[in-house]
Amino acid sequence: MVIAILALQGAFAEHQQMLHLLGVESFLVRNLNDWNQKKDALIIPGGESTAIMKIMNDEGLTAPIRDAIRAGLPVLGTCAGLIMLDGAHLGTMNIQVKRNAYGRQLGSFYAENEFKGIGSVPMTFIRAPYIESVGEGVNVLSVVDDHIVAARQSNQLVCAFHPELTTDTRVHEYFIGMINAANN
Ligand code: GLN
Repeated sequence: MVIAILALQGAFAEHQQMLHLLGVESFLVRNLNDWNQKKDALIIPGGESTAIMKIMNDEGLTAPIRDAIRAGLPVLGTCAGLIMLDGAHLGTMNIQVKRNAYGRQLGSFYAENEFKGIGSVPMTFIRAPYIESVGEGVNVLSVVDDHIVAARQSNQLVCAFHPELTTDTRVHEYFIGMINAANN
């Protein structure tokens, strides 16, 4: 299994480190040449969604990535990566997102919360979004203070928090489970 990690901006190195810990091969995507390598899944990391969108457009990556996700490529989007999948960006996932949703005081915070199918998970939020509403086909996986912070729609998994910034590998393992199921 090999996982492509979008590396235009943000916390891509931490995802690669996490996959390395789990013994999963990965490569970084900065342009179309990188993207065209063989892959079983994609991770879109946290960072700044406006910057990621702009560079993605400049590199001609937007349409190929959208098409691949629509065709079923498993994708994990964390924080800004979650935003990238909403209707205002790639539009592959049936979610409405509120950006920088916790205001100045709560710009960054830590929580431990139930994640459906995993259990209690440490969650680091950094100027995070949350999901305001979900449409058909979206399964809510975690809710913190009445806000949806993780969800799945078939091949697409999103978290408002940063699983790659903790030592807990279970969200990545959950994603790897999705990839294995897609490959069988
Ligand atoms: N605030 C960022 C955005 O709106 C997301 C923050 C993050 O990825 N940690 O894109």
